[in-house]
Amino acid sequence: MIRKIYHNSPPLIKQIARNIYEKIVPFPYVYGIQFAKFYKFLMKSQWWPTERLEEFQNERLRIIVKHAYENVPYYRRIFDERGLKPEDIKTKEDLKLLPILTKDDVRKNFNELLAKNYRKFNPILCHTSGSTGQPLSYYIDRDLAALIRATVWRHWQWCGIKHGELIAVFRGTLIDEFGKKRRCYYKVEGNQIHFSTFEMDEKIMTKYIQKLNQIKPALIRGYPASLEILARFIKEKNLSVYSPKAIHTSSEVVLPYQRKIIEDVFGAPLFDWYGHGESTICAGECEYHKGLHLNLEFGYTEFIKTKETENMKNVYNIISTSLWNFSMPFIRYDTEDLALLDNSKCLCRRGLPLIKKIIGRQADIIVGINGVWVSPSSFVHFWKYKIADKLSGILYAQIVQENKDFIRVKLVGNKSKENENIIREQLKMLLGNMKIEFDYLHKIPTGQKWRFTVSKIKEDVL
Ligand SMILES: [Zn+2]
Repeated sequence: MIRKIYHNSPPLIKQIARNIYEKIVPFPYVYGIQFAKFYKFLMKSQWWPTERLEEFQNERLRIIVKHAYENVPYYRRIFDERGLKPEDIKTKEDLKLLPILTKDDVRKNFNELLAKNYRKFNPILCHTSGSTGQPLSYYIDRDLAALIRATVWRHWQWCGIKHGELIAVFRGTLIDEFGKKRRCYYKVEGNQIHFSTFEMDEKIMTKYIQKLNQIKPALIRGYPASLEILARFIKEKNLSVYSPKAIHTSSEVVLPYQRKIIEDVFGAPLFDWYGHGESTICAGECEYHKGLHLNLEFGYTEFIKTKETENMKNVYNIISTSLWNFSMPFIRYDTEDLALLDNSKCLCRRGLPLIKKIIGRQADIIVGINGVWVSPSSFVHFWKYKIADKLSGILYAQIVQENKDFIRVKLVGNKSKENENIIREQLKMLLGNMKIEFDYLHKIPTGQKWRFTVSKIKEDVL
């Protein structure tokens, strides 16, 4: 009843109610009992020896495998075809008996991958387009959502952030009145202030700096490219900006030059985080910045060599198994990302091993003729929320900035004037009056060159 009244209330009332609630209920219980349970566990388990964490992984793995065999038609078929029983998968090494699950397998077998008793786990239906712009749907258990939040909070704790401190966010949040004239380009949610990353021109970035100097956030979170755009602007205009305790980046690989300009301009250390919507793996930098600590409690990750990586020294494909998702278990899931590994140990003494570097697809910043700079991840969000749902028969898209006033849209799918008109209208709203042309491809490109945004002018403008 109270929950219903809250959800039907106007945003301002919701905000006031949320603030009061957060003042009364102490952390970690403020995010629910399940969150508190996970958070307390994670704060202890990070100091366990690696061997104990691996034992824990094997225990979780046996539970997930048994459940998948008994309740998930896709896995029952896979086991039967291979003459396997759940007892054959006792440890992580035994997982090699099962095939790798690709994103395409998930798309083609969505219903079969859903557990017969999935409702029991009160799951959330999620849609992602990742870094490629190609949609993927899946379910996440409500408990796993709490674990994700708790793992992120543990990472923020590594960044030196306490609950209640203010966080400024430069990610893909769409502010309600996007595209219309308005005075406000941010919205407040609890202790987080979300800034729009879809309209970052000089005027709006100047307002952002003023706002940051006024609110003095403890943490600034964002896509590396969005924070790079902001840092570059601050540096070029010789503005002064408030230094937070830390910068937190995720969703795109942070490049060395981006890390440098962001850390220099904001005068704060950068903590990178790697994860994905499908939630089979996540990893984050600690205070020593030696690489990303793999969160062993979250999922089991295999680093394997394939044709793609066979000639790349110390680089592996990341294959990961969720240890917590019962509604739609992903076992040996191909993340399509690569990891660079070395044997370095971290000085922090946590039992969580290090990934030296994640190698993901490097997409480009797109610059509108209206002066707006859009990061690759913001572009994927814009496409997902403002364009993809309105199109019919389009399987894949790629945005190529040919020059400063010319965008080429590459599509796989049916040629249609309606689709083209929708894309043209929305892109002009985002980027101004650009020339827009369409190319139709016969098939979806594959491999590491498959990027959603490509800029041919980046050398000139960056
Ligand atoms: Zn460490």
